[in-house]
Amino acid sequence: MTLHIPFDNSYARLPAQLFTAQSPTPVAAPRLVAFNHALAQDLGFTGDFDDADLTAVFSGSTVPEGAQPLAQLYAGHQFGGWNPQLGDGRAVLLGESNGFDIQLKGSGPTAYSRRGDGRSWLGPVLREYLVSEAMHALGIPTTRALAAVETGEAVYRETALPGAILTRVASSHIRVGTFQAVAARRDIAGLQALYEHAVDRHYPESRSPTDFLNAVIAAQSRLIAHWMSVGFIHGVMNTDNCAISGETIDYGPCAFIDAYHPMTVFSSIDRQGRYAFGNQSGIIVWNMAQLATALVPLMPDQDLAVTEFTAAVHSMPAQIEANHQKLMRTKIGLTSQQPEDAALVQDLLDMMEQQGLDFTNTFRSLSDPSAATQFDDKATFTNWHDKWQRRLAHEDSSPDETMNAANPVLIPRNHRVEHMIQSALQGDYAPFNRLMQALSAPYADDRQYSDLTTPPIEAERVKQTFCGT
Ligand code: AMP
Ligand code: MG
Repeated sequence: MTLHIPFDNSYARLPAQLFTAQSPTPVAAPRLVAFNHALAQDLGFTGDFDDADLTAVFSGSTVPEGAQPLAQLYAGHQFGGWNPQLGDGRAVLLGESNGFDIQLKGSGPTAYSRRGDGRSWLGPVLREYLVSEAMHALGIPTTRALAAVETGEAVYRETALPGAILTRVASSHIRVGTFQAVAARRDIAGLQALYEHAVDRHYPESRSPTDFLNAVIAAQSRLIAHWMSVGFIHGVMNTDNCAISGETIDYGPCAFIDAYHPMTVFSSIDRQGRYAFGNQSGIIVWNMAQLATALVPLMPDQDLAVTEFTAAVHSMPAQIEANHQKLMRTKIGLTSQQPEDAALVQDLLDMMEQQGLDFTNTFRSLSDPSAATQFDDKATFTNWHDKWQRRLAHEDSSPDETMNAANPVLIPRNHRVEHMIQSALQGDYAPFNRLMQALSAPYADDRQYSDLTTPPIEAERVKQTFCGT
């Protein structure tokens, strides 16, 4: 095998209490089902390798030269409840290449597995592969997918299911919960080392923990606004699923809104709607408050820490709102800002909510002369449309161009993702490959994919999504 990955493993050089050395557990009969060659190139892969080489490495059967596999420690607030010990229970970081983490997910038990088997089944692996790559193509910060491998082994959930491993690429896997784990152990040396490492990798311009906190808050404020602008519901915004880098991480029960309603929930375990679509901008502030708390011991002056960190967290709602409004303005063709714009956007959302209109298609079709036909209450829509047209008259740039670059034609619709998984379970990867192809250019209006733009009919509608553990 001549696959060469230029590993440089900075996480493995951190204090030992932050991780546990752990190799992936080899599997019975691995089969490579997806590989992202373009991403491999960005990661600096070289050599004359074939699918057999890739299968060996990304099934965990062969540890590539230069890798230092390890499982990371983290903790987290899960649905608001503190869990002091989580960690990579089914994931192994092989190492870092060109500054990016390469992590196998579903690669066997680790020191942090608790009662879990350390494995994943095929459904969540393909789901994360597809949705994370779709998010990337939509222009939203996210972890990426490098490989998917079927293990040839069964995993047992409610029934026996085919096992699989996802290889995930991230600018790091440092979470709010990573800081929380070390802070909760009163491990100041570990906390300081983690902090310096995170600053180096993500926010090298930071000069203090306050700068760092502000930088994470700014990144997360951009991220949440992006989610809201495409109708994405993460579904499990626990602090352990919240990356310091500001990338979307941990695609479990995530889903995209079809019919618009701000309180939409898909996740089967989110019974109170804590992580409902419209709650995401509030919850992220709560998560950043937990990060702030974990960073306090790094500040020599505790009073100053409280003052500065409080100000940082309090600045967040306005940042999210500003980012969100900017993205929503572009969705209705506005590149400048006027005081009445927020109401214009809200009125449109209210009309969509009242009628349960499709979020993606309604925005994309707004500039269409036939847009009014979707709205039952034509008078209200016409009234809104007139106001909108008067507002557009003050714009220099062409609204159609602005809108078509801001309103995707294609999103990974839940019923399509579900159908793709069911097909793959039958050994048919055609829907997976076609969806991957279509979603690589989500703003292009390509006729051959027009069937993928339709919302689900009632029988197709996905009512609940699951964590995939
Ligand atoms: P998640 O819901 O995927 O964010 O996972 C929450 C925690 O449970 C993390 O610490 C995971 O590593 C762990 N976990 C999830 N599934 C498994 C599994 N099958 N085996 C061991 N640990 C798991
Ligand atoms: Mg997680």
